[in-house]
Amino acid sequence: MTLSTYQKVFEHAPNPIAILDEKFNFISVNKLYAQADNKDISEFPGHNHFEFYPSPENEEIFRKVVKTKKPYITKARPFIYKKNPDRGITYWDWSLIPILDSNNDVEILVFSLINVTEQIESEKNLKMSNEELKQETIQRKYSEAYLKAIFDNSKLGIVTSAIDGKVIQCNVALEKMLGYTKVELADKNCNVLSHPEDIHKDQDKVMEVYCGKRDHYEMEKRYLKKDGSIVWVNLTLVLAESTNFKFVISFFQDITEKKQYQEQMVKLDRLNLIGEMAAGISHEVRNPMTTVRGFLQILRSKEDFCSYIDYFDLMIEELDRSNTIITEFLSIGRNNPSNLQKENLNNIVESLSPLIEASAFKHDNYLQVETSEVSDLLLNNKEIRQVLLNLCQNGFEAMPPGGTLKIKTFSQGEEVILAVQDEGEGINPEVLEKLGTPFFTTKENGTGLGLGVCYSIAARHNANISFKTGSKGTTFYVKFKVNNMTAYKNISAEYNYDLLEVANEM
Ligand code: ADP
Ligand code: MG
Repeated sequence: MTLSTYQKVFEHAPNPIAILDEKFNFISVNKLYAQADNKDISEFPGHNHFEFYPSPENEEIFRKVVKTKKPYITKARPFIYKKNPDRGITYWDWSLIPILDSNNDVEILVFSLINVTEQIESEKNLKMSNEELKQETIQRKYSEAYLKAIFDNSKLGIVTSAIDGKVIQCNVALEKMLGYTKVELADKNCNVLSHPEDIHKDQDKVMEVYCGKRDHYEMEKRYLKKDGSIVWVNLTLVLAESTNFKFVISFFQDITEKKQYQEQMVKLDRLNLIGEMAAGISHEVRNPMTTVRGFLQILRSKEDFCSYIDYFDLMIEELDRSNTIITEFLSIGRNNPSNLQKENLNNIVESLSPLIEASAFKHDNYLQVETSEVSDLLLNNKEIRQVLLNLCQNGFEAMPPGGTLKIKTFSQGEEVILAVQDEGEGINPEVLEKLGTPFFTTKENGTGLGLGVCYSIAARHNANISFKTGSKGTTFYVKFKVNNMTAYKNISAEYNYDLLEVANEM
């Protein structure tokens, strides 16, 4: 090859090449070398390489090549154009090859480079996106575990269902709430478990959610458990959208207790109002009644009226009955606890048993008393006797001859419970919600005050009355909190103190 051919190869080589002397001054560079720094080839000769591209580390390498006379080859070595830092870090595969003369001295150096910046950058990006992907997967796994923990341990019943309403998945809380297993619920539409009267209550809203017109709704409604009992639920239905499909999440919050409590509050409100009225008028009615009763008694004993003695008795009896009603009425009105004493429920039950037994005998019924050991409570003896008598009275009145009335006492958790169980026909559904409303009675001679008095006394004792009823009979439960003692301790202490004072004065 001629020199000019070599020259051409050098000029058109596919990568930047520079020829340097042993002091690293440019002898010549090819086009690509000049272009790499936006220069012209004529700008190089006569300048030192490190004048244009200062780098102490590279200079060190170059010196070593001259000294050792051995080529140096490196891959993807980073380089920053100190005079043009905007270009950022660039990466180069390069080699520096010493060409020796006949004396074995370095005559020239061939500096040849390949710009691999793009390749390195894309490798870096790939690495980064792999790392991101890894992070994202970890994140997703974490979210999944997190959601699963919430789903499994939530006190709320949670159901996910398809857009047609069919259950996809439900949690343990929901199984417990409705009494059905996951398997029994799978592929069912939860709405079929609604109470028959509530089944259409939210149908429009459900449809609106399913077709995307609204993203959620909230509603209080009733569901039927597997055992047929009712559970009140605050239902929140939410439309959830994933990238490629839609589904619905329903949250079930059991509000049965709250509902029962609300019902009782309404009853107590009614009782309070009536009680206040009663207190106002009862004195006005009682005074003339006492006068009338007195005169009736005087007249009854007169000989002139001896043939009317039965009528007098009837009149006096009716007046006494009216007076009893007024007394009961007045007791509804009071809502402060008074005369509370530490007492055991079993003592009250046992001391009243003979009286209740006599009543059972009158109704041709039997009485069974089953007490078990219970903690002492702060009670107003008279009032609790009244509650027990009223509940037993209702029990006897509900049973045909031959029935057995059971009185039980027992503890359950932090509660002491008094239960009165009869074998009557149960309470009619239409009667249920009016139960405890003063003057509501289904009996010809009933006053409709018995249960009202019970509710009011229970409230004063920080106790709660509930019942179970069915065709085989009704059981009323009066549930006292064991710590009803602490709630009223202060009041009771004051009370005893007052009594002591009075006793000392006497
Ligand atoms: P009264 O006994 O004077 O009717 P209550 O307030 O004691 O008034 O009871 C109200 C109503 O509740 C009764 O008339 C009856 O219909 C119903 N009831 C109460 N207890 C029972 C029971 N154990 N079994 C069936 N019905 C009952
Ligand atoms: Mg009654």
